[in-house]
Parts: sequence; structure tokens; C-alpha cells
Amino acid sequence: MARMTLSRRRLLQGTAGFAAAALTPRRLFAQQAARNAAAPGAPLPARRELVIRGATVLTMDPAVPDLTGGDVHVRDGAIVAVGQRIEVPAAEVIDGAGTICIPGFIDTHFHLWTSVFRPFVRADVAALGYFPVTARLGPLMEPGDSYRAVRLGTLDAISAGITTVHNWAHNTRSPEHADAELAAMRDMGIRGRFAYGTPVGLADDAPMDFAGLARVKRDWMSGKDNLLTLGICSRNLGGVTIGGGAAAASRGILTIENIKLDWDGARALGLPITMHTSGASPILALEQAGLLGPDVQFVHPLLTTPEERAIMKARGASYSTAPQLESRRASQLGVIQLGELLDAGIKVSLSTDHIASISCDPFSSMRILFALHSHRVGARVPLTLKRLLQLATLDGAVDLGIADRTGSITPGKRADLVHVRTTDTNMAPAGDPYEALVSFALPTNVDTVVIDGRILRRAGKSTAFDDAQIVARARDAAAGLRDKAKWPT
Ligand SMILES: [Zn+2]
Repeated sequence: MARMTLSRRRLLQGTAGFAAAALTPRRLFAQQAARNAAAPGAPLPARRELVIRGATVLTMDPAVPDLTGGDVHVRDGAIVAVGQRIEVPAAEVIDGAGTICIPGFIDTHFHLWTSVFRPFVRADVAALGYFPVTARLGPLMEPGDSYRAVRLGTLDAISAGITTVHNWAHNTRSPEHADAELAAMRDMGIRGRFAYGTPVGLADDAPMDFAGLARVKRDWMSGKDNLLTLGICSRNLGGVTIGGGAAAASRGILTIENIKLDWDGARALGLPITMHTSGASPILALEQAGLLGPDVQFVHPLLTTPEERAIMKARGASYSTAPQLESRRASQLGVIQLGELLDAGIKVSLSTDHIASISCDPFSSMRILFALHSHRVGARVPLTLKRLLQLATLDGAVDLGIADRTGSITPGKRADLVHVRTTDTNMAPAGDPYEALVSFALPTNVDTVVIDGRILRRAGKSTAFDDAQIVARARDAAAGLRDKAKWPT
């Protein structure tokens, strides 16, 4: 830092995309490469004073009743009031007639870095499945590729009504890759947690890069106006039955001793932990090692036993389910256990997983979850449509530890709001709003998206981003990876 020229430092401090501290030449290069990959920096919209007028408001807050023809007042990025006929002369009015206003969706497990793999993955060809493709292309990614992938994935997420995302970055090849992913999230104005991981293909006995993690925490988590939080994503424990050799080789299968090393390192920095449970369940082994706690999230709850569910409940650990992906798996690998998890009182939330061969569509995730629950469990464990929307919103905030600021339309919380049109042909004439959202809605019905008081989408269009350019940059990244990999040979 001391050797850096003043003009160079000013240049970096003047850019919005990255924190400018501890700049080594390599990091400087990586930052500039990532920045060059970005669309020209359109600033995020200002937080204006708003009144949403005349919407069907589903608050997800037991203390704030749902409203028909209701208003929501937003100022300085916060929800001020929810009620009928709120008059604020200075505020901009958003006509909510013909829409359902919900808290934004909270996606609790999303590998945004794989968003540029859409041209490569085939859902019906094992050799071109998600695991072999990510194992092969992941090691070739530069920070600029990560930036472009995360921008595309985040754009897709926002357009589907997701306002908070848990970015599960299990290809954090370097701290600069983490910078690039965090910069993309910040440049898109989304709320979220970045789960710092390890590079695809790292040796199982190699620990996480704790120095890099600590530096990223220092650079990114001290800002006042920060929508982003930090955690880690853990490698797997125990045998793999899903994803086969490609998953085992690329994502890591650790001993309990090595898991403990990584988790202790994360906890020393005060960071929460997330872990896939794709395969033999790790819960008993983790419990015996004394590693479970409320800072642990598991992903893919397919094979839990009653004993394990009791442990999870006692320890306060949560589970994220990705119904679109999990319903594609062979049933002998386990079934979606939503009924059992809810029955046991475990925190559950919803996720997309990835968009390399899964659509970013929280409505479909709720729909599939409801269908599978009705198919296998039914009335034995009652599941209302309202509870499904709660899983996709408030329960996600609880899972990520941010329910004090988002997840419901509650005065005092930040304004993360989504309007879903009910006048489109796939929705009209709409009756019960929960029925409309779970049985009929699609991302194309998402009209308006507000995150932290900023309007990022109106009339189904981005207000601040050049969508075509973000797509073009992602396409360029995919083409570059294709060349580097000499795909398809
Ligand atoms: Zn996953």
C-alpha cells in the first residue's frame, strides 16, 4: 500500500465496485480485470419516499394484518407504515391496483458462480450434468468470469422477485474471486450473504484460506450502508451418493477433523456455516464432534432420521430445500422431507440451488413443494399456501439471521417489496392471493421489485441495469471458458 502512487490509489478509491485496501499487484490486476468485465457502472437508483397504493398486501407478519386495497409507506429505505389510505403528499405514488405486494423472496442457497454454465449443462445427459461441467470449468474461472456469472444470476434472481440471496460460492479460487462476486452483488443492489468457500478441486486435507477470508471480511463488512453479510460454505463430510466421482473430487469429502478445522476458523471470525448434505447424512457425526449450533445451515434435507431431526431442533440448525432440483433426483436417494422437518419444528427455507439447468422461479419452487408434500404426506402434516409463502420469505430471513431487517412487511424493517400482477392471463381473474401466487404465478408476472427502498424493477423491466449487456458479458465469459477448456473435446 505504501508503495502505491497517489493517483493509483485515488483511481481505486474512486471506483464503486471494490474496496480499496491491501492491494497487492496481483489483486490490483484481478480487480481491474473484474472491473473491465463489468457493464459501465450505472449508479443504483436513489431511495425515494414512496407510497404503494391500493395493493393486496400480504405482510407475512402475524402482527400486521393482510390488506385488500392497502398502502405501504417507504422512506429512507425503510417501511414506515402499512394501512389503508396513507397520505404523504411529498411521496411518489406507485399504483398497486391489480397487484399482490409481498415481501421479496429470500433464496437461501444459490450458486451464482455457475450461472454462465447454461450453454454446457444438459439435464438429461449424465456426462454433461452439473457436477462434471462445474468440475471441469470451475478451475478455469478468473475473477472477471465470476463477476459476470454473479451479475447474470443476480439479474435473473431480481427479475423473479428475489430480494435476498445466499450466494453459495463453492468455487472461491482466491480472495479476488470473492471480491468479484461481492462486487457483482453490490453493483446489483441485492441483499445477501456471501458464503466464502474453497476452490473446486482443492485437496481434502488443505484448509480454507483463512487469511483471505479475514481480509475479505475486513474489506467488505465494515461499511455502514451494507446489504451484504458474510459466512462460509463448508465442504462435505462422509460418503457421496449424489454427483458421483465428479462431485467427490471437485467439492471435497473431508474427515471430521478437517471439517472441525474449517468450522473453528469460521467461528473464530464470527461467521455462520452452510453445508451440503448430498449423500450420507453428516448430522450424527457433527453432533458427536460437538460442532452443531444455530449458526449452521444444511442444504438438501432428503435423508434425515427422527433422531437427526431431534438433534437439529435441539441445536437450532436450519435446512434449505431446493425443490426443483431435489425432485429430479432418484427417490432411492431420499425424498423431500418438508412434512417431517416442519413436524419436528426445524427451521426450513427455500432455494434455487443454481441456474445452470434449473429455472430461477420461486413460484415454481413453492408449487413443486406443495405438490410433493400433498403427494407423499398430505393432511397428516397440514401445509397451507400461506405457510409456503412464509417459507419463501420470512423463514428465509430467519434462516439467514436477518429477520430483524427483512422477510416481512413490517414497519421498521427495510423495504424489500415485490409486486406480482394479477391481471395477466395466467393469473386473472384472481381470487385468493395465496392461491394465485402458489398455483399460477410465474416470474413474468413480477412487475415491481424494491430492495432496501430502491426501485430496481418497474413494469417488469430493469430500472438501473442494461439487461442485454449483462447477458452479453455472461455470454462472452462462457465463450472464453469454452475456448480455454477446448470444449467439447
Ligand atoms: Zn447446492
